[in-house]
Amino acid sequence: MIPYGRQSIDDDDIAAVADVLKGDWLTQGPHVEEFETELASEVGARHAVAFCNGTAALHAACAAAQLGPGSIGVTSALTFAASANCLLYVGADVQFVDIDPLTLNLDPRQVPDGIDAVIAVHYAGLPVDLTSLRSRSRFIIEDASHALGAQTPDGPVGNCARSDMCTFSFHPVKHITTGEGGAVTTNSDDLAARLRRFRHHGISPQPEKGGWYYEIESLGFNYRLTDLQAALGTSQLKKLDRFLARRNELAVRYREALLGLPVVLPPEAPDGWSHAYHLFVLRVAGRRGVYDELRSAGIGVQVHYVPVHHHPIYKEHASVPLPQTDAVYDELLSLPMFPDLTDREQDTVIEALKVAVS
Ligand SMILES: *Cc1c(COP(=O)(O)O)cnc(C)c1O
Repeated sequence: MIPYGRQSIDDDDIAAVADVLKGDWLTQGPHVEEFETELASEVGARHAVAFCNGTAALHAACAAAQLGPGSIGVTSALTFAASANCLLYVGADVQFVDIDPLTLNLDPRQVPDGIDAVIAVHYAGLPVDLTSLRSRSRFIIEDASHALGAQTPDGPVGNCARSDMCTFSFHPVKHITTGEGGAVTTNSDDLAARLRRFRHHGISPQPEKGGWYYEIESLGFNYRLTDLQAALGTSQLKKLDRFLARRNELAVRYREALLGLPVVLPPEAPDGWSHAYHLFVLRVAGRRGVYDELRSAGIGVQVHYVPVHHHPIYKEHASVPLPQTDAVYDELLSLPMFPDLTDREQDTVIEALKVAVS
């Protein structure tokens, strides 16, 4: 089976992890700090705070924003459930905003007034245009799990030029991996301090009362990344440009090969923007048949995502109809897209797709 996504691990990555195993620190230590410094510099943010996964990063961002019971956060429903679950974790309410079918992102013009937070998901790796948000909520949190390396006219996604915090995931199908892992970037010293406390049980050390002394001021978790994972992340980050270039090359090849087929190709990045192509998502009529046929031909196509408001736990939150999200969902199909996908494998995917849609 050719999967839809897969990590690229080489001997440098393996050596970086093996080195950590011979040292003194396995859990959070100097390699986490190094990874955070490298990530912050890569995306142009003042701080990066690493977490054990992208979901924990989203949870921490909502907690650092002090969202809670009575707060309302909005997000798109065409995303992984974690983009909305993070609001429920802190007791906030979730409202969904429909997508713009031209970008497949939340439609910034439909974000209502008077809400506390927007979780802006850069679906498939195309950044949400935060300049066209209709109203400024108290907090803007970007879920950039799909968009490490994407660029906007304001610079790299993650620099928080138009947001308070930006979260990433380093799951193996994402742009770089740490096995499981995530991070939040921010330019705020205060938010960064809150994020670090939340990651480590809410502990604040108070050495003036004794070297051992600390107090827990607010509830936190053990959401730490290990040094093993961080060393892998630093090694992977060195290859990000190559990974992104290959993803974009594969996207160009798909576009050329699929032109003229009865499918809708994914939105392209506008001038001045760049796409990180976490996913290459088609719209195709009769998706169920095409999915089954490609799967039996050994092509690991996927559907991203069952819209969050379709899940039974979100029934009570589906306050407004989401006609665009529902219509797009019926036709979505993600084709294999990862840096180590060879031209030959991609040609196999293309040929199988041609048969399946004819
Ligand atoms: C992958 C992903 C997450 C969660 O990341 P994990 O590291 O798997 O916890 C959150 N939001 C979106 C949109 C994702 O794709």
